[in-house]
Amino acid sequence: MNDSSDAPQSIDWHTLPQGDELFRFSFEDGRVRGVSLRLENTWQAAIENHDYPPEVAGLLGEAVAGAVMMVANLKIDGRLILQFAGAGPVNLLVVQVGSEHRFRCMAKWDDARLANAGEGLEALLGHGQLVLTIEPDDGPRYQSLVPIEGASLGEAIEGYFQQSEQLPTRLVLSADAQVAAGMLVQQMPETGGIVPAHGPTARGFEHVGKLLDTLVGEKGRAEMRSITAAELLHRLFHQDALRLHEVSPVAFHCRCGRESVGQMLAGLGRHELEETLASEEGPAGMIEIHCDFCGSRYRFDRVDVEQLLTSASVEPPESTRH
Ligand SMILES: [Zn+2]
Repeated sequence: MNDSSDAPQSIDWHTLPQGDELFRFSFEDGRVRGVSLRLENTWQAAIENHDYPPEVAGLLGEAVAGAVMMVANLKIDGRLILQFAGAGPVNLLVVQVGSEHRFRCMAKWDDARLANAGEGLEALLGHGQLVLTIEPDDGPRYQSLVPIEGASLGEAIEGYFQQSEQLPTRLVLSADAQVAAGMLVQQMPETGGIVPAHGPTARGFEHVGKLLDTLVGEKGRAEMRSITAAELLHRLFHQDALRLHEVSPVAFHCRCGRESVGQMLAGLGRHELEETLASEEGPAGMIEIHCDFCGSRYRFDRVDVEQLLTSASVEPPESTRH
C-alpha cells in the first residue's frame, strides 16, 4: 500500500488483509484522517495467560485498540503508554505500544467489588485519571493527565484529545475476550494550526462522525467485532472518497525476559534475595517473578541467585557504565 493519490474507487476491498492489521485512511484531501483496526489472534495471545473476567477483558481490549490507534495516528517513533488509574473495581489498565505497533497490556481489579459492580465505565473504573505518556526515541518524555470522563473508554480518550491535542476527534472502541476493535477519525488543522468550525473540512468531519455514530450502540459495537476492519471501512465509507494510506500489522510482544529479570533481582542485593529465598511465600527455596504483562513466570533457585550476584559484581550494571 503506498501513499499515492490513487482514485478512491481503486480500493479493492476483497484483496485487503483480513487479519490483525490497522488501516490508516483519509478524506477531504487529507484534512480528515482516521485509523481502524480489529485484532483477533494477537489480542487472544495477549490475554491467554491471564484469567481476566469478561468486563476486564472488554475494557483492556478497548484500551489496547485505543492506544495502538493513537500511536498510528500520532505517528510516534518511540513508545506510548496509556494508563487508566481509578478508584473503582477495575483500578488499573496499562497498555504500552512500541515501534511497529507491538503492544503489551495488563489490568488490576478486585474480584469481590467487580461482582457487585453496576454497568458502565464509571461503575467499573470509578473516578480516576487517564495518563498518557509518550517516550520518543529522540526528544523529551511527554506526559498528560486528564480525568476519566464519559460513558465509554472511547469517550474518555476523546476527552484527552479535546483537552490536550485540541483536535476534533471521534473514537469508537469495542472488545471482548476474542476481539479488540476500534475506529478513530480526526479533523486536521489548516495552515497556521487553525481547526475551522465551518467550511468543507468541518462538514466532512461531521459527516464521518455521523457514520461513526451508527457504531456507538451495543448493536454497532457487536458488529465491529464480527466483521473485519476492511469490511467495516467498506460498510461505513463506501460512498465517500476514502483514501487508504497504510495497512500494517499489529502484534503482541512483551519485552520481559529471564536476563532482564535477573538483572533486576541482582540490583536488589544479597540481603533482600536471601530473605526472599528463605520466605514462606511462593515455591520453597525459589524466587519466583511473575510478569504482569504476558503472564510469564521466572524462577531462580539458590544456585541461580549466586550466579546473578557473582556476575553482577564482576560486570557493573549498565546505568553506572556511562
Ligand atoms: Zn512479560
